[in-house]
Amino acid sequence: MSSSSDVSEIVVEDAHRPVWPAIRRGLLNTCPACGSARLFKAFLKPVDACAACGTDFTPQRADDLPPYIVIVVVGHVLLTAYMLTDDFMPKSLWAQFLIWVPLTILFSVTIIQPIKGGVIGLQWALRMHGFGGIDPNDPTEEPEDRR
Ligand SMILES: [Zn+2]
Repeated sequence: MSSSSDVSEIVVEDAHRPVWPAIRRGLLNTCPACGSARLFKAFLKPVDACAACGTDFTPQRADDLPPYIVIVVVGHVLLTAYMLTDDFMPKSLWAQFLIWVPLTILFSVTIIQPIKGGVIGLQWALRMHGFGGIDPNDPTEEPEDRR
């Protein structure tokens, strides 16, 4: 039987978290919660906590989703551009290689951090992983009496 003090140890924030503003703030590389402080301390390395509102970003698990989204976006945009330009500006294979490979790398590196910010914003808004309080998949976050 648990006492009332055990219940007070579990803090679950019930405030509404709008998804699209959180994703938009993440895409702008700012905190999904407040939008006023930066989300990354280095390339693809999120801060541990927001400098403005203190939101903890250690529960984020963007993992492989940002690269998958980058592949889809870059593939659609650059393949479309290649197919459109190849009709009226046919070039040799080497010229194609020298144009499209650097563009692919540059485009991918440019958009992957904003996309990762958007994914972190989505995870925060949907309270995924540890963003909503207790992560049911993380045994280190369970209270002592629940183990
Ligand atoms: Zn913040």
